[in-house]
Amino acid sequence: MTQTNTDSKKSIRHVDAAIIGAGTAGHNAYRQISKATDNLVIINEGIWSTTCTTMGCMPSKLLIAAADRAYHANHSDEFGIEGNATINGKQVMKRVQDERDRFSSFPLKNVESWDENSKIYGRTVFAESGLIEAHTATGDIEYIKADHIIIATGSKPSVPEGWKLSLGDTLITSDTIFELPDLPKSMAVVGTGAIGLELAQAMSRLGVEVAIFNRSKNVGGIKDDSINQKAIACFSNQLDLRLDTKIESVSRDDSVSPAQAVINYTDADGNDQTWRGEKVLAATGRRNSLHTLGLEHVGVCLDDKNRPLDMDKLTGKIKDTNVYIVGDANAYMPLLHISSNEGYLSGKEVALIISGKADEIDLSEAIAKDPDCSKDSTILNDMAPDKSHTATTAMSVIFSAPQIMSVGQSLSEIEEADQPCVIGEVSFDNQGRSRVMGVNCGLLRIYACPKSSLILGASMVGPDAEYIAHILATAITNKVDIDGLLASPFYHPTILEGLRTALRDVAGKIREYQS
Ligand SMILES: Cc1cc2nc3c(=O)[nH]c(=O)nc-3n(C[C@H](O)[C@H](O)[C@H](O)COP(=O)(O)OP(=O)(O)OC[C@H]3O[C@@H](n4cnc5c(N)ncnc54)[C@H](O)[C@@H]3O)c2cc1C
Repeated sequence: MTQTNTDSKKSIRHVDAAIIGAGTAGHNAYRQISKATDNLVIINEGIWSTTCTTMGCMPSKLLIAAADRAYHANHSDEFGIEGNATINGKQVMKRVQDERDRFSSFPLKNVESWDENSKIYGRTVFAESGLIEAHTATGDIEYIKADHIIIATGSKPSVPEGWKLSLGDTLITSDTIFELPDLPKSMAVVGTGAIGLELAQAMSRLGVEVAIFNRSKNVGGIKDDSINQKAIACFSNQLDLRLDTKIESVSRDDSVSPAQAVINYTDADGNDQTWRGEKVLAATGRRNSLHTLGLEHVGVCLDDKNRPLDMDKLTGKIKDTNVYIVGDANAYMPLLHISSNEGYLSGKEVALIISGKADEIDLSEAIAKDPDCSKDSTILNDMAPDKSHTATTAMSVIFSAPQIMSVGQSLSEIEEADQPCVIGEVSFDNQGRSRVMGVNCGLLRIYACPKSSLILGASMVGPDAEYIAHILATAITNKVDIDGLLASPFYHPTILEGLRTALRDVAGKIREYQS
């Protein structure tokens, strides 16, 4: 419905709901709301596929898959298998791009099926009046009044100030790395968070000379010091880790061809050092753009980390407003499954309100009645929302080798809350199956409440951490205690037997505590 506002003489489109951002969260919200009304808009700047499929989860795992093949082909001497695999960089990147394009095509197909009138191509901000101001690709401004607003604007790589200018095209980010036509000869990766670590190791395994910089002595954002130390030990054998360093300046040397990137830094011992090479990957974190949207005009306040205040953790609804902020945009847990669930839940809630059913049926009931959330998704099944709408169990996995995972509460959260806690652990250095496979480097620590025997959280670096994370997250979510987990069978010989050893260690410590 379009009306003319006599005060401002602007043509204003009035919609039941507006979704800003068409990534994983936005797609899921759109799907739900479009079941309740045709009078909705989705406004998106840039690609209409998702970060996950285009420049996130999927291309990074594709690169890692190639890297693992190369690594095992070249590093199996201890098994009596000697190899000298030739890595065809162009072909590596072509497979990454071809498969990436295939994954990206699924959300795009859905977008094509949406009503053209509901799609606006452009950047959105909020006007002082609270109206949505869509700056369209054609240079027009469209004003929209929405009864419900879902902000799903994601996040972008955050690059230190001045680096773009100083480094020019020798600077890359996760937005551009998967576009490279060939593998570079050398690369500095700045940042040892999930993205930096995964991409640095993948490039290194593919024969790129990689140096990884971080200002602190931390990898993967690990919050348990014992796990962090172990992770550093495991990675130091295979990666050029330059931790505890301070980057003083970056520049570009055009006197050589091709131009080289130069990093001047102070190393951990306080010595001045210089790194030179082909590319610098800035993996220095991701940032949402909420501070640029004019959210104060719709009653949303942000904290000093750019996170919205007074937000419902499940649906992203901001208290006393008609605004939801979901996915990476709210910066609480910038992970794919969270974006997917929040998009779905916010959309479901808005759909209930629009269809006038919100008083009869609450959100949990409505979700329980969805036969299968994944069938309800506009994106790939793997990236569809799940039924974990009430589960607030934190879980993250880094797909390095060895993998890193954390579930539930971190050790510092447990300590800050002054909760009673015992810690059981297992080393994977000599764990049977891990040794058989030649992946025997790692440590798992499980934090449990000695009174209830329930698991509070866990942190791990080691083989198969992705599966161990899921088992522990399932136990935390469903309140299965240590004895309950130990009552399940563990097949021999598996890496999961290591999990049982850690659980037995916890059980022993609980007995000691209780005696
Ligand atoms: C390299 C990499 C690897 C990753 N690996 C994993 C992983 O293994 N596991 C995992 O769980 N997560 C991973 N992630 C994170 C995951 O990809 C994100 O959490 C998820 O994609 C966020 O989805 P979203 O819907 O919130 O945002 P997005 O998919 O980014 O969508 C946001 C959309 O909003 C648009 N937009 C922004 N501002 C505006 C505006 N003002 N107006 C209109 N439109 C706007 C953007 O252009 C974009 O299209 C990874 C991320 C990266 C970068």
